[in-house]
Amino acid sequence: MLDTRTNRPDLPAEIARRRTFAIISHPDAGKTTLTEKFLLYGGAIQMAGQVRAKGEARRTRSDFMQMEKDRGISVSASAMSFDFRDFRFNLVDTPGHSDFSEDTYRTLTAVDAAVMVIDGAKGVESQTRKLFEVCRLRDLPILTFCNKMDRESRDTFDIIDEIQENLAIDVTPASWPIGQGRDFVGCYDMFNNRLELMDRADRNKVAESIKINGLDDPQLDEHVPETLVAKLREEVEMARELLPELNSQSVLEGHMTPIWFGSAINSFGVKELMEGIGTYGPEPQPQRAEPRQICPEESKVSGFVFKVQANMDPKHRDRVAFVRLASGHFKRGMKLTHVRSKKPMTVSAPVLFLASDRELAEEAWAGDIIGIPNHGQLRIGDTLTEGETLKVTGIPSFAPELLQQARAGDPMKAKHLEKALMQFAEEGAAKVFKPAFGSGFIVGVVGALQFEVLGSRIELEYGLPVRFEASQFTSARWVQGDKQAVEKFTAANKQHIAHDNDGDVVYLTRMQWDIDRVERDYPDITLTATKEMM
Ligand code: GDP
Repeated sequence: MLDTRTNRPDLPAEIARRRTFAIISHPDAGKTTLTEKFLLYGGAIQMAGQVRAKGEARRTRSDFMQMEKDRGISVSASAMSFDFRDFRFNLVDTPGHSDFSEDTYRTLTAVDAAVMVIDGAKGVESQTRKLFEVCRLRDLPILTFCNKMDRESRDTFDIIDEIQENLAIDVTPASWPIGQGRDFVGCYDMFNNRLELMDRADRNKVAESIKINGLDDPQLDEHVPETLVAKLREEVEMARELLPELNSQSVLEGHMTPIWFGSAINSFGVKELMEGIGTYGPEPQPQRAEPRQICPEESKVSGFVFKVQANMDPKHRDRVAFVRLASGHFKRGMKLTHVRSKKPMTVSAPVLFLASDRELAEEAWAGDIIGIPNHGQLRIGDTLTEGETLKVTGIPSFAPELLQQARAGDPMKAKHLEKALMQFAEEGAAKVFKPAFGSGFIVGVVGALQFEVLGSRIELEYGLPVRFEASQFTSARWVQGDKQAVEKFTAANKQHIAHDNDGDVVYLTRMQWDIDRVERDYPDITLTATKEMM
């Protein structure tokens, strides 16, 4: 059977009910608060506030986490699963700060949709725009939540116009706010003709929902304050005339976004948004891979690593590889093939990130995110299958924009430092280059803050003081070409050559001129700023 909406075969029910998504937003727009409310409605935790409280308990473990808190940024991403109605939601957390674009980019390769949260007073902010662009590269469907409607916010038409113009996407109102700031009373549900009224007295209460028979229904006058009801009727009528109507196909293709208005802190609008994710959000999608794409309904299990996190538990020095399942029905204890090394791997202790805590996953389906504890075999970009040689594509590694020389505070500990750096490199937190000439390591990052984060983590997790010093190099490029050409090139440019943590050859540059020179003098060599993770 073909699904008329997607033109794809019907998925097994367990897969079809999954919605795997991330939240994109500018810091402070309300991502954390919204996540808490998702979990509250998802029944995963008893009381909102616990995500933060739990987060804080964790954070006390290290100063690096303290730094994260002080700066109000989220450095480590995680995944959470919860049920809502008939749906299983998998929420993959994106690091919020602009310094972590590479990590964020990879996170977005593991989801099928994004929820864009904007602040009703501020509209589309810089970080939202950047993340939106990344979603657009993959045509990810986007659902929008306009938050903080309990505060003074901008005119509703203004907000919608700004999104349409700034992000070049059609916006269709799923709900329409009634009143503003202190007078905000709730929303008119445009898709279901319902009135949703906010209870200011109880922040965790689900809004009262009243079925309405169109705009002329006298119930509107009963429930909406007199001062607001005429404006509501007028605006909804105008919106229906001027703004595009919902087109589910267009939403799935990423050309249209429905927008819900609400107030996460008052739990308002969240339930409607969740219903929206279920109804208009995509089912698990096929995954690009070589030599063929992987479809979620295939009976054989496959998945790929999009994130590695080391030292989640400092007592155990473990690493957890976050794997997005691309197909099949996974069961604990399964033997999978690690395609890069062609070695079998028994997955005996996979973890599901239920909001309550990490829990052993007995089973999981295409679309789910599982954590696989390991000792370093699993790297970002790795594919796991039931034997077939498949390689998931589209998970890039970016050339770092900032390079520094790393030195151990204690010269006797240089070997330890190497180990720590390699571990962070595998985690994807930095690039580490070993120069062919001279000693020490050059560490490359995308944002300056990452040096600080790395420094404090190395000190805390390994007890190694480390110094980062200016390097003579400013940028790095991967060297591609046939074996002989690369050998000839490296022999002639030893001073500039290094190897990255995967052993691939890298050309370190001082200025653009270096790159131009190589391009001119070595036509059979290509320097690239990204590399596909192997
Ligand atoms: P994040 O940085 O995007 O994760 O944002 P947070 O969820 O931490 O929220 C940032 C601030 O906005 C916090 O002080 C929240 O309490 C506040 N906040 C979140 N949602 C709302 C809302 O609906 N209304 C109001 N007035 N404040 C909110």
